[in-house]
Amino acid sequence: MSAAPFLPFARPEIGDEEIAEVVDTLRSGWITTGPKAQRFERDFAAFLGDEALQCVAVNSATAGLHLALEALRIGPGDEVIVPTHTFTATAEVVRYLGADVRLVDVDAATLNLDPRHVEAAIGPRTKAIVPVHFAGLAADMPALLAIARRHGLKVVEDAAHALPATSGGALVGTLASDATVFSFYANKTITTGEGGMLVTRDAALAKRARVMRLHGIDRDAFDRFTSKVPGWAYAVVAPGFKYNLTDLAAALGLQQLKKAWAFQRRRAAIAAAYDDGFAALPAVRPAPAPAGDIHAWHLYVLRLADGAPVDRDTLIERLFAAGIGCSVHYIPLHRQPYWRDRYRLDAAMFPASDDAYRRLVSLPIYPGMTDGDVQRVVEAVRHALH
Ligand SMILES: *Cc1c(COP(=O)(O)O)cnc(C)c1O
Repeated sequence: MSAAPFLPFARPEIGDEEIAEVVDTLRSGWITTGPKAQRFERDFAAFLGDEALQCVAVNSATAGLHLALEALRIGPGDEVIVPTHTFTATAEVVRYLGADVRLVDVDAATLNLDPRHVEAAIGPRTKAIVPVHFAGLAADMPALLAIARRHGLKVVEDAAHALPATSGGALVGTLASDATVFSFYANKTITTGEGGMLVTRDAALAKRARVMRLHGIDRDAFDRFTSKVPGWAYAVVAPGFKYNLTDLAAALGLQQLKKAWAFQRRRAAIAAAYDDGFAALPAVRPAPAPAGDIHAWHLYVLRLADGAPVDRDTLIERLFAAGIGCSVHYIPLHRQPYWRDRYRLDAAMFPASDDAYRRLVSLPIYPGMTDGDVQRVVEAVRHALH
């Protein structure tokens, strides 16, 4: 056993700035959705470099994905294409709306949606595609957007891993999809504890999402019948949801967003150190971003190659024994009982994702890791694989 303290798989990077902003919110008398959530939306649009973008702050990325698909009128009888190599949230929101999920395999190198499999999965009921930017590497958006355009499909990006990341030099969030949804869950690249942001250029989509985010309340709809809307007046136009982001959470987001580029640089430096450290091992390192593009490095996913002396589960046990936390991204959806049974799936239908699943481990990668922490992980992986 190692004498060094346990190195967790992930750890949020919360500084004095975040703490002061939360305290300021607590003292302000306004702790739920209010001025800070609004400022976070404006700052987020500015961060993406396009103040014409509409940003809708929500209490999770799951909520944002649900709102985006709801606003696009996905419903019973429709089918939505989702990669099998993702977290269940990407797919579950489709079921919230009574539509069906069509899981497809990923590209073996990037673990992102494979456009060839997407094209083959399109049928008469297909309405939308939800690409995931796995680990922080943008999916092949030019190809996916071209397929969507050709078949008249909507595109909602699950960008839970992708702040900040680029595709063709443009930040994820500014691409030509219908909507993009970011996550600020505790282990994501920036965090509000729980939270998310729906980003869109579609004014009607943004308006619907804002109404459905808070109980289906539309102040403007009330305004139609009155010349002057008093503060207490509101109109309920739909059975909406409770998906608003609190000002307490937005306070964290305001300060985290200012650090997002510094966090990305530190994550990229850790990834580079891992790449060097693992070069000679029987392991496959994660695919880099194309030249000129930015990888968000939310995850560093190493895969055991043929000829590795141990299997993945043993590697994780050895790292844990050395005091290092790790994780698995993901147990693919085709292996999860609900998805497997509902759609009668088996591993042979998703060879790339399934092969990756059996070989992969996610190593610690977060800005608070010291160079010593990174070297400790490198040594422990080398020791386990020699
Ligand atoms: C974290 C995550 C989500 C869900 O984000 P929440 O903010 O926790 O709802 C969705 N998709 C992917 C790929 C994720 O990693």
